[in-house]
Amino acid sequence: MATLPSPALARLQGVRHQYGRVLALDGLDLALPAGQVLALLGPNGAGKTTAIGLLLGLQRPQAGQAGQADLFGLPPQDLAARRRVGVMLQTAAVPDTLKVRELIDLTRSYYPRPRSVADCMALAGLDGLMDSRYGQLSGGQQRRVQFALALCGRPELLFLDEPTTGLDIDARQTLWKAIRELGAQGCAVLLTTHYLEEAEALADRVVVVNHGRVVAEGTVAQIRAHVAQRRIRCSTTLPATLVQGWPGVQRARYDGERLDIVAEVAEPVVRRLLDEDPALTELEVQRAGLADAFLALTRDADAPDLHKEAA
Ligand code: ATP
Repeated sequence: MATLPSPALARLQGVRHQYGRVLALDGLDLALPAGQVLALLGPNGAGKTTAIGLLLGLQRPQAGQAGQADLFGLPPQDLAARRRVGVMLQTAAVPDTLKVRELIDLTRSYYPRPRSVADCMALAGLDGLMDSRYGQLSGGQQRRVQFALALCGRPELLFLDEPTTGLDIDARQTLWKAIRELGAQGCAVLLTTHYLEEAEALADRVVVVNHGRVVAEGTVAQIRAHVAQRRIRCSTTLPATLVQGWPGVQRARYDGERLDIVAEVAEPVVRRLLDEDPALTELEVQRAGLADAFLALTRDADAPDLHKEAA
């Protein structure tokens, strides 16, 4: 018997959203099934925060605009849907004078089946901070408290908008471990991030957005495959301008001492390099990373007309 696809916990269907003349979402489709960690990637201004705002009911779909947003099959403003969600946005209004323990107790009290305080502390790495006042914590420590507040209601779906921005390496690793643990427990996660290694480390599925539209979607490996490129690096005396002219070479330039080549296929270029410079050393061939694919998919993002003006 064929298995039915699991229903989406959060869904945007053909959503258009305008701020004045700026078209932020241009028919965006997005669906998050249960238990999936989905990374939403895109350059600045691509529409990620607007998409999350609509899914959380912080912004309403605009009258006269196409599309629909739903959360657990309900309108996102519905309290029954919101109770099942945990949220960590880029900015948070948390009272400065309350202690971390008080903030966690207060937030837990809103939910029918909250996570234990000990679990929240362990997952967010809050050891030693529970009796500190929120306003006296560093920016990175405040981010960890916001993470604890997002997960303390035992959500089925967690929205994390750039959760590790400003965190040091240890704190980032703690959060990654917690996100993996939550994912393994069946919690779905919608994550936005500008750290592509974060998406590589955590995401079951990646959706790349540009100009308010999905431009690619799939596993990290599938997104990588969008750019069938290889990077070749070596120490050689061959001039970059010469190699740049070879068939199949997309780019060649010196990066410090080493020649750095981007090619469609590696083998013919490597053969020719070795033929023309038998003294060549330190040869290295790599497949394109997620960062290369992301740049290729969103390359026009730096063009001056970054925001498409609404007709
Ligand atoms: P970033 O990675 O920088 O957080 P983003 O992908 O989250 O960007 P959005 O914040 O959703 O992008 O913005 C999408 C577009 O809508 C941008 O062109 C932005 O300038 C515009 N925009 C967002 N919020 C508003 C607003 N309140 N008023 C006017 N324009 C807005």
